[in-house]
Amino acid sequence: MPDIDSVNISLPSLLDEVFAKFSPRASKENIGELLVELDALLSSRVVQAALQLLDYQNIVIYHNSSKTQQIAEINEGYRHGTLKLVRLFPRINYCTCDNFQQQVVGNQTNPSTAPYTCEHVLALRLAVLLESDKLRYEELPAHKLKTLFSRFLPDNVIDD
Ligand SMILES: [Zn+2]
Repeated sequence: MPDIDSVNISLPSLLDEVFAKFSPRASKENIGELLVELDALLSSRVVQAALQLLDYQNIVIYHNSSKTQQIAEINEGYRHGTLKLVRLFPRINYCTCDNFQQQVVGNQTNPSTAPYTCEHVLALRLAVLLESDKLRYEELPAHKLKTLFSRFLPDNVIDD
């Protein structure tokens, strides 16, 4: 395994390279190889948690008719009686979950040891790459999509 400090410098591009390498031919046959490479780049906790999400949870990508606007929703099931939904944007390394906020964004004192991403971002990328049967696409009318987007973005970003 490469030295951690040198990995973090170019981790986003290395991760993109790994995904590009396995795209579009990722399959049941070479997923093992893909996971080994991901494990080398990311923490095992993130990789394992992402795989669990893929195994047990459903992911929906809501989109407009042209698919130029997309927002994903990962259903994590019920925790303490409330349904836990995590929303994120495909292809963007950002998540509202506690792990991302506390460990990726929040670790400013020692950024070189901060994890690069969370299990939701990784699970979504893997689901798209592997065309997982847990992933489905659903077209939404513009006003409903706008409502979903408005929970993330300042109003002026989503003018249509
Ligand atoms: Zn997350």
